[in-house]
Amino acid sequence: MASMYHSTRSNAMECSAKRAVLDGLAPDGGLYVTDELGRTPIDLGRVVAQTYRENAADILGTLLDDYTAEEIEACVDAAYGKTFASKEVTPLVSVGDDYILELFWGPTSAFKDVALQMLPQLMSRAASQTSERIMILAATSGDTGKAALAGFADTPNLGITVFYPHGGTSEIQRLQMVTQAGDNVAVGAVRGNFDDTQSAVKRIFGDEELRARLAKQNVVLSSANSINIGRLAPQVVYYFDAYAQLVRQGAIACGDCVDFCVPTGNFGDVLAGYFARRMGLPVRKLIVASNANNVLTDFLATGVYDRNRPFYKTISPSMDILISSNLERLLYYMSDGNASYVAGLMNDLAETGRYKVSDEMLERIQEVFDCGFATDDEAREVMKSCFDEHGYVLDPHTAVAWHVSRNTPKEDGVARIVLSTASPYKFCRDVCAALGVTSEGSDFDCMRALEAASKTHAPAALSALEAASVRFDDVMNADDMSAYVEKKCGELL
Ligand SMILES: *Cc1c(COP(=O)(O)O)cnc(C)c1O
Repeated sequence: MASMYHSTRSNAMECSAKRAVLDGLAPDGGLYVTDELGRTPIDLGRVVAQTYRENAADILGTLLDDYTAEEIEACVDAAYGKTFASKEVTPLVSVGDDYILELFWGPTSAFKDVALQMLPQLMSRAASQTSERIMILAATSGDTGKAALAGFADTPNLGITVFYPHGGTSEIQRLQMVTQAGDNVAVGAVRGNFDDTQSAVKRIFGDEELRARLAKQNVVLSSANSINIGRLAPQVVYYFDAYAQLVRQGAIACGDCVDFCVPTGNFGDVLAGYFARRMGLPVRKLIVASNANNVLTDFLATGVYDRNRPFYKTISPSMDILISSNLERLLYYMSDGNASYVAGLMNDLAETGRYKVSDEMLERIQEVFDCGFATDDEAREVMKSCFDEHGYVLDPHTAVAWHVSRNTPKEDGVARIVLSTASPYKFCRDVCAALGVTSEGSDFDCMRALEAASKTHAPAALSALEAASVRFDDVMNADDMSAYVEKKCGELL
């Protein structure tokens, strides 16, 4: 029988994995979870002998088991068949005594590609059975928007509209978005900052009259956010696959424990590691690495989650987050599925911006999770020292994890894998500055300077942006976004 999903905040209503993928968020505001997680352990011997794509098919088939084997296979082929520039998809490289899992070889050079190449495939197949057509709406401060555009472009039954703050992204990020190909994509710049843009998108989602008008054309609005189970499930795969690569490289024996250190924002990536552990991967510790926005470091040390604190803009912008939404799923599993307890904590968070878990629960969490954070200066220092000592260039997000890993005790015989979430070429100005490489001129001059200094090549899709033609130059006020979305639903779907 297929696994059923329900909200982290209530066991009352159950739905299939396909419905959970289409909905994203549960109707009561909770996140979709299944109590089947880990009941069918993954066979490690089989994982070690298989390719990334074969492992992806097994793991997605286990987590989202109302998709047929044929559907999953088609999803895996479309998502990972030709789109990643590495034949391993997520290659593991050795750096000093540790290992780095490179998650950035997808079309937009960020780890979000691993999930966002898969989610549209899963959504499209679920939607085809309901005759719904879906317009994905996203507000982005840079990275997620492009990864979502690349994933959803030309996917049947789906369209995507991305808004970004006018002048609020890096030049490379803007060019990545406004040059996006595809007949079902739209990109608009909004006068204002990221918060203005995001608030306006939330108002569009809440506009019942707009929804009713769209429903008459069989169109529903949806999001591609990282709380969707269809984004989380694909991330479980690379934890298993990294382990398989370590065994095949002869670094560990099958069955040995490993540690993972994960640069964390919304808690999606590291939660996928926890899922892998529950599904049978021998993980000793999951190390949660934060930047100066260290709300998770404090939570994991004290059991108090408190978002009432200053917000810092850092050189690792994708981790500048004060509400780590996916943590709610961890609370659910760590409380043995006590949905009313989770609902209470989330209520505290909504009302006071803070909650405290029980001592017993904190202890349980600390058995699995370690934590730490890095300031921008600390991240810059390890970018420089890692390059000087090992010739390896870290991006600023990976540098946060590298710093935290170096400051977190190891256990003898337990290999340490640090997850790398972006190509350094996406953040080449900050990287060049940290390495002491001259970085004057345009972002493309910076890329060339980094290529020369590191003797590596910028990802082809990034260097090609210099000559790519701009498809989208719409600039609007936040008040005009709703009409823009309605127009695009008519044109693109
Ligand atoms: C999104 C992102 C992260 C944080 O991942 P979460 O799943 O939100 O914890 C880290 N690094 C980069 C480059 C990202 O884009």
